[in-house]
Amino acid sequence: MITLDLTLPDTRYPIHIGQQLLGRADLLLPHIKHKKVALISNTTVAPLYLANLRQALETHGISVIPIVLPDGEDFKTWETLNQIFDALLQHRCERNTTLIALGGGVIGDMVGFAAACYQRGAPFIQIPTTLLAQVDSSVGGKTAINHPLGKNMIGAFYQPKVVIADMDLLDSLPQRELSAGLAEVIKYGLLGNIEFLGWLEQNMAALRAKDKQALSYAVQTSCAMKADIVSQDEKEHGVRALLNLGHTFGHAIEAGLGFGTWLHGEAVGAGMLLAAEASRLQGQLSEADVQRVKTILEQAGLPTISPDLGVDTWLELMSHDKKVSNGEIRFVLLQSLGQAHVAPLPQNVLQQVLSGRFIE
Ligand code: NAD
Ligand code: MG
Repeated sequence: MITLDLTLPDTRYPIHIGQQLLGRADLLLPHIKHKKVALISNTTVAPLYLANLRQALETHGISVIPIVLPDGEDFKTWETLNQIFDALLQHRCERNTTLIALGGGVIGDMVGFAAACYQRGAPFIQIPTTLLAQVDSSVGGKTAINHPLGKNMIGAFYQPKVVIADMDLLDSLPQRELSAGLAEVIKYGLLGNIEFLGWLEQNMAALRAKDKQALSYAVQTSCAMKADIVSQDEKEHGVRALLNLGHTFGHAIEAGLGFGTWLHGEAVGAGMLLAAEASRLQGQLSEADVQRVKTILEQAGLPTISPDLGVDTWLELMSHDKKVSNGEIRFVLLQSLGQAHVAPLPQNVLQQVLSGRFIE
């Protein structure tokens, strides 16, 4: 096991990464102030892992209230959030009852937001069970639910007490979800770590075969980069925006096709290729660099051709991005592989990217 620290102005918390961590109550107990916890999961993950964790806690005299929610992004809603509050209140949970999120990013985001709101702030713990949640959503304190008019539109910045990323939990993760998580892993290499990009190129087959050593290294490196960026800019006034590489294009794909048609990571992967192509048209990346981005996405089992939404629809969808400032869409672009920056794109470059060779 390796432990990283995320240090912020008001708090600091450990991120434990390794194997056989689910039964390790010793990692949880220092962060639990009360002899009662709410363990929140969904109908897919709970049957696989909830009992193990529950037993580990009960052995130490902690009473566990399991809350099992329906599975899926469609349930990341106000109504499901209320189910959490109903259960917490019915069981007379107090302000210092710890909420534990056991699941992917949907559960993590929703439980984090529930914790931020419950009695004006209850402690919470992240136990991410997808690769995407381990390398991205469980770290950094962004919590949210969706609104019918927009994804993640209702939320809060609220940090967990500890994050526990157990590679063994990925055994049951479907390959398509694994690939989607790899898109976010590749993102870290592209935006800030060229050596890591090289390592990923060498080790992609091992990652896809769920080699635990390889996964552990990829999660560590990703979390270390995210922790570093978030510690500089917790509330996204500056450098944190770099983590959105590929996301402006990606969100348009997700929304344009209808959420859930492409997984978030798939859309981000194709979006990163469009960002690379835009960077090439701006004279920053070479043709070979763009090819390298395409190849690693293919190695990860991700799509590289974006759907043809039509230029007007693309522009309309991207204008809803949270990074839009004064009506100007700002993109994360690559100065070189391993170095990202935020800038607007000239209209002609945008037109060319959105009607070009990486769009079907
Ligand atoms: P998810 O939570 O929907 O999980 C994907 C699927 O895998 C689900 O069906 C889930 O039940 C299943 N699953 C989870 N763990 C499993 C396991 N170990 N074995 C078998 N099946 C398992 O999706 P996700 O990709 O983990 O997260 C996406 C969500 O995360 C989105 O809502 C997105 O907005 C959010 N997100 C948040 C942040 C952040 O900073 N807070 C960052 C990125 C994404
Ligand atoms: Mg993302």
